[in-house]
Amino acid sequence: MRDGEEMLQLNVARLKRIPGDSARYKQDVQMPSFKVQGESVNFSGPVVIDVVIDNTGKHLVVEGKASGKLKLACSRCLDFFEYSFEVPVKEVYTAAPEEDADEAVSFTGDFLDISPEITKSIIMHLPMKALCREECRGLCPVCGINLNERQCRCAGKDIAPRLNVLKKYFEQKE
Ligand SMILES: [Zn+2]
Ligand SMILES: [Zn+2]
Repeated sequence: MRDGEEMLQLNVARLKRIPGDSARYKQDVQMPSFKVQGESVNFSGPVVIDVVIDNTGKHLVVEGKASGKLKLACSRCLDFFEYSFEVPVKEVYTAAPEEDADEAVSFTGDFLDISPEITKSIIMHLPMKALCREECRGLCPVCGINLNERQCRCAGKDIAPRLNVLKKYFEQKE
């Protein structure tokens, strides 16, 4: 596959002709990067989609989940890391947009591209503050080095007296 051809296309040629029928689609797909608050977010590897599509006679109802990895910047140390996600996917599609213009996403032909809905769900479920790991030590507020990688000599210099009291308290407890 070349860039630009990596579309998420679910073949519904048969399904859309049989009201009451449903089909499961499980596949690895390539998804294009997307933007959140002006920042471009890239996927790391394929996205696994696992959905069931029901033909209700009027609509094609897609329901399932998508999982994969994103490259996110840690909000503490600013390093990029792989963030695993699994998000629900639910959307209603119609081949007759004039009937339910605001209820369903319209599509034409025999293929359904659900990638916009998957991207929407991923954005909705993104963490407010992404962390490379729970115990990320972040950047030194004084010299700016990444404290996960190196230790600097700033530590302790600027600790407020109140924090020193706390520090002593915890040392006693240990
Ligand atoms: Zn971090
Ligand atoms: Zn420092």
